[in-house]
Amino acid sequence: MAFEISDRLKKLPPYLFVAIDEAKAQAISAGVDVIDLGVGDPDLPTPEHIVQRLITAAQNPANHHYPSSQGLAAFREAAAQWCRERFGLDLDPQQEVVSLIGSKEGIAHMPLAFVNPGDVVLVPTPAYPVYHIGTLFAGGQTYYLPLTEDKGFLPDLSAIPEDVISRARMIWLNYPNNPTAAVATKDFFTRVVEFAREHNLIVCHDAAYTEIYYDDFRPPSFLEAPGAKEVGIEFHSLSKTYNMTGWRIGFAIGSPELIGALTKVKSNIDSGVFQAVQEAAIEALTGDQTCVAKAREIYRERRDVVVEGLRSLGFRVQNPQATFYVWASTPPGYSSADFATRLLKEAGIVVTPGAGFGEPGEGYFRIALTVDKERLAEAIERIKGVQF
Ligand SMILES: *Cc1c(COP(=O)(O)O)cnc(C)c1O
Repeated sequence: MAFEISDRLKKLPPYLFVAIDEAKAQAISAGVDVIDLGVGDPDLPTPEHIVQRLITAAQNPANHHYPSSQGLAAFREAAAQWCRERFGLDLDPQQEVVSLIGSKEGIAHMPLAFVNPGDVVLVPTPAYPVYHIGTLFAGGQTYYLPLTEDKGFLPDLSAIPEDVISRARMIWLNYPNNPTAAVATKDFFTRVVEFAREHNLIVCHDAAYTEIYYDDFRPPSFLEAPGAKEVGIEFHSLSKTYNMTGWRIGFAIGSPELIGALTKVKSNIDSGVFQAVQEAAIEALTGDQTCVAKAREIYRERRDVVVEGLRSLGFRVQNPQATFYVWASTPPGYSSADFATRLLKEAGIVVTPGAGFGEPGEGYFRIALTVDKERLAEAIERIKGVQF
């Protein structure tokens, strides 16, 4: 049988990392000792006290049933409590918090709750691909907001044409940002709230990296901005904070209207997160936080090795204040894809070409600090040996 795929699948953007994935697989099978700096998945294990809590929670038959899509009351309370301690937010765990099967799940489903065919969604570029894909699956139209270095990788809201804004339902933001590692201040979020009020827009903020920060900068929550809860929803993830990418748990917080509609979509599609995983997440959010401080310290050391190393080789590099990514400029004359290909062929190193995240990412490459500092130092040594 020949099955015709749906128009929505046909419209998916081409996967831009195909070439580099293939080249990587080839290099590995040819016996090259590849250093993979491409993957944004922590190499550190989930802290032991969280794993132990899963084990005991999995042994409790009460946890073997269908969970609710909304999440255990105790999980939502723990999330609200964590947000109070970390950001000073005052959230009603009943109406302003919902559990997610990883924040990606909530991000992908959010447009189904508010976007009608033809509605515009404002999406940053370069960016995590899910904002656009969720829009596409809901039948919406993406209008891209370029993030450029001269604007600190923040979208220029004043550059959006009037006729686009009038058809727009929502705007996506992500700070600390993947892939540019840029951060936003509460002042910027305050301006976004005003903009959203003026144009009747829903603000969706992806906050996956708020806990991966360096030095004295503590990334704010979007909901810290005055009036933000009336216009916004924020997506939190335990994946990066507690090295739990495989566990699939996150949560969204914000306006009861937005949380309620997202929960409605979810309750018609999924049946929530395994309760034992929710219990482990409660342990993560309410337990000892020194594991997070330790992870930050490890990433900071790695960041210093990479930023200082690349700078010593003449690369133009932003010193990130947050995230475990380093966003660097490709050498003059190289497209990001050519640079990545050459680095893999001649140094056995995988980096992510910036253009893979969207056209304005051209001229940059991304390094993930998810390998140990000795390997990173070796990567710098290998790059030194390549003539660009
Ligand atoms: C890793 C990541 C996420 C999602 O993580 P989950 O594991 O689904 O919680 C969301 N947004 C960005 C930008 C990410 O890099």
